[in-house]
Amino acid sequence: MTSIAHGYDVVIAGGAVMGSSTAYFLSENPDFDGSVLVVEPDPTYARSSTALSAASVRHQFSNPVNIAISQFCTEFIADFHHNVEVDGESPDLGFRETGYLFLATDAGMATLDRNHDVQQSCGVDVSLLTPDETQRRYPYMFTDDLAGASIGERNEGTLDANSLMQGFRRRARHNGVEYLTDSVIGVTTDGGLVSGVELASGRSTSCGAIVNCAGPHGSVIASMAGLELPVEPRQRSVFLFDCREPLGQTPPLTIDTSGVWIRSEPPYYLAGGIPVDDTRVDHDDFRVRHGEFTDQIWPALAHRIPQFDKISVKRSWAGHYAYNTLDHNAVVGPAPAVPNFIFANGFSGHGLQQSAGVGRGVSELICYGEYRSLDLSELGYQRILERRPFTEDAII
Ligand SMILES: Cc1cc2nc3c(=O)[nH]c(=O)nc-3n(C[C@H](O)[C@H](O)[C@H](O)COP(=O)(O)OP(=O)(O)OC[C@H]3O[C@@H](n4cnc5c(N)ncnc54)[C@H](O)[C@@H]3O)c2cc1C
Repeated sequence: MTSIAHGYDVVIAGGAVMGSSTAYFLSENPDFDGSVLVVEPDPTYARSSTALSAASVRHQFSNPVNIAISQFCTEFIADFHHNVEVDGESPDLGFRETGYLFLATDAGMATLDRNHDVQQSCGVDVSLLTPDETQRRYPYMFTDDLAGASIGERNEGTLDANSLMQGFRRRARHNGVEYLTDSVIGVTTDGGLVSGVELASGRSTSCGAIVNCAGPHGSVIASMAGLELPVEPRQRSVFLFDCREPLGQTPPLTIDTSGVWIRSEPPYYLAGGIPVDDTRVDHDDFRVRHGEFTDQIWPALAHRIPQFDKISVKRSWAGHYAYNTLDHNAVVGPAPAVPNFIFANGFSGHGLQQSAGVGRGVSELICYGEYRSLDLSELGYQRILERRPFTEDAII
């Protein structure tokens, strides 16, 4: 094994949106003068969750910390050009502020009400709607079986996931961060600390800290340092379709009572759902579950939006959630047993919008040994050790 001569202060395993955001925030911090290596096996990112995501941002979470992370995302993307520009250029984020609409039957109203109170106390611009109000705002929708709905009035919508990632990546590289096309296959430890990484190419390097940003492969990297991470790949199919009878208005990203979601992707629509058999899949299994569309998603769509009885699927793909089986929430921060091993894992379906807040938080941990802007310690690894869930109710 040849070693990379000089070693790095920080090695980041995985260079998609979370790894690139972490690299970005480290390299932007005037108090950090260390060296950063991002190890990423696939520079096309074809199978990363980032590239396969539904690319949407919402403030409607049940936990104040998740709300605050998304609020920072909103702040960050509002000034995206200035934040990431290199030589006056930045990728086009294409943010469309469509809102998120959560629908509820009687059974779901208590959760909607509870989340609404939390969201309002956190300053989220969100409104609860009666079924009549829902029907008036969205006349294409069947509302007779609803008890209510919650709509985000501002700051929620859809963006270009690749642009967000490339913005972080390009600026980080401009700031001196190195990206290497390789895979982390081993983590070496010495006296309870990470001392280096081994790479698939046969090279190795020493490092002062490692950040685990390997998405659905996060538990593989953790196990290299003898750490257990209850994060597994869960398959999510996404379907792009057109509708013969247009709705006449752009729908918000709508989460139906069935769990099926739908959003616009002009001139088409996108939809997905939670598989009935929602279990771990193989890392290489990217087969689209077409039966899910015909048996589960389409009937739910046609029930909620009768025009969606006449649709045709144009394209589909499958991506992987990095799914935390303990509580569906992210795991962020150091491993107590190996304090320079830092997790940024388990983001399920909300990691894109969490990338700025988590990247910033992890960079602060590395630089100052503590969170300075937003305290993310509720998402820490200690709860995994104690099997103490920190549940997020608003999971899609
Ligand atoms: C269908 C779908 C819809 C989604 N919708 C949304 C949404 O609307 N809004 C939202 O906020 N989030 C959404 N998400 C979630 C979001 O996409 C992810 O949480 C986020 O992209 C995670 O980014 P990441 O960088 O942690 O992981 P990834 O994007 O998966 O990147 C991990 C990287 O690690 C690399 N890697 C793997 N193994 C190794 C190794 N051994 N060494 C080095 N590198 C390695 C991989 O090549 C990959 O590039 C969705 C996800 C899916 C699948």
